[in-house]
Amino acid sequence: MVISTIKPVEISDKVTLPTVTKTLNYQIVIIGAGAAGITTASLLFNQNHFLDIAIIDPSDKHYYQPGWTLTGGGVFQIEDTVRNQRDVIPQDATWIKDKVIHLDPDHNQVLTQAGFLVRYDYLIVCPGIQIDWHLISGLKEALGKEGVTTNYSPRYAPYTWELIRNFKGGNALFTFPNTPIKCGGAPQKVMYMADDTFRLKWGVRQRTNVMFFSPGNRMFSVPEYSHLLENVIKEREINVQFRHNLKAIIAETKTALFDILDNNGNVIDQVSYPYDMIHVAPPQSAPDFIKHSPLAVPNNPYGWVDIDAYTLQHKRYPNVFSLGDASSLPTSKTAAAIRKQAPVVAKNLLALMASKPLISQYDGYTCCPLITGYDRTIMAEFNGYNTTVISSFPLNPVKERAIMWTMKVTALPWIYWNRMLTGDRFEGEYIKFMQWKK
Ligand SMILES: Cc1cc2nc3c(=O)[nH]c(=O)nc-3n(C[C@H](O)[C@H](O)[C@H](O)COP(=O)(O)OP(=O)(O)OC[C@H]3O[C@@H](n4cnc5c(N)ncnc54)[C@H](O)[C@@H]3O)c2cc1C
Repeated sequence: MVISTIKPVEISDKVTLPTVTKTLNYQIVIIGAGAAGITTASLLFNQNHFLDIAIIDPSDKHYYQPGWTLTGGGVFQIEDTVRNQRDVIPQDATWIKDKVIHLDPDHNQVLTQAGFLVRYDYLIVCPGIQIDWHLISGLKEALGKEGVTTNYSPRYAPYTWELIRNFKGGNALFTFPNTPIKCGGAPQKVMYMADDTFRLKWGVRQRTNVMFFSPGNRMFSVPEYSHLLENVIKEREINVQFRHNLKAIIAETKTALFDILDNNGNVIDQVSYPYDMIHVAPPQSAPDFIKHSPLAVPNNPYGWVDIDAYTLQHKRYPNVFSLGDASSLPTSKTAAAIRKQAPVVAKNLLALMASKPLISQYDGYTCCPLITGYDRTIMAEFNGYNTTVISSFPLNPVKERAIMWTMKVTALPWIYWNRMLTGDRFEGEYIKFMQWKK
């Protein structure tokens, strides 16, 4: 069933709450029909078809976002990354096609933009991450033209490829922001594909200065993968500037302005670089309606949903769970992580409903397939809670491999649409006995 409402509009910080037009009641309400919402709903229905679940999401489209990197690299068309939302929402669920703008966990209800007051017994909060374009001055206006692009939006990922394939030489800049982001590897994956493409065209790479800017001081959070990436950077003669945070795009002069930070993150200077193309990974945070609600981590500027790192249950509201990009889980925000989080939410929620203890635990698993060229990928699986390397395959993951490139472009998208969203078992579990161990 679909409850269709008005077209979504941008919500600012100062939301005026609409008048309640209708009150709806469900046993379980899921906010967000992205990777996390659909996977969890499917897992719940796989256990019990009679659950009364409503999923609230305004979007007609469901995106396979890991495919945006491949779109920016010219391997996929943007159409390859999208399906109609109604085709991925489980048939037994009610889809409320609307946007949540207010959370009221003290009264077990949420309010949508169209004025639907949706009451619940249990709530799962997974509306993804918010892209804070406005935190980089001039970025929003500059995007999509004159060399400014990002793979963090389906609107601009095709433009990334247009820039890369038509590049004639000059400064090609790639940036990482000073906030947590989804897929921490994406800002550099696109750079390696760009570098490969520049090398294919006679003289282009020789005329190009490829530069990577990050407010951090290493290429990746896990030391083993970081060392491997340092070698990739060295081989490719990429100029890396750590402790640099993109502050502004000055489109008129095609200049990128950076704050230079000290080791404590304080701004100590500024520097600007002219660009011929720039790929920006924008600052990100939890959606504002979470930030401004009692569900957010107190006194935290990012506003993530405040949940227990293992049970994924809210720390103050026991009938609320969260997972995915909007959650406070201290691991890398990826769809791969959600593959391991969703079964924990489903099991623990069903346990709670049956007044049983919550024994299922998420262990911090995540994975970022680090594309390092058109025929190579480091399948960077790790435990984000203790930054240790792990593998679901019988192969040492700390290596660039052609087979992992094939996995990234063929197997992983198929698994996402056909197994993850349908709540099927994690593939690695079938070959657990032969998995690589350190
Ligand atoms: C360029 C790029 C590359 C990536 N590469 C990889 C990769 O290689 N591997 C990997 O595992 N992950 C990768 N990711 C990350 C991965 O896509 C995300 O971690 C994952 O999609 C998060 O799932 P989610 O369900 O939390 O959020 P999303 O999938 O973003 O879904 C959130 C849903 O909530 C809805 N929503 C938003 N606000 C509201 C509201 N107010 N009310 C109701 N609904 C709302 C949205 O419409 C959306 O449908 C990549 C992401 C990007 C952008």
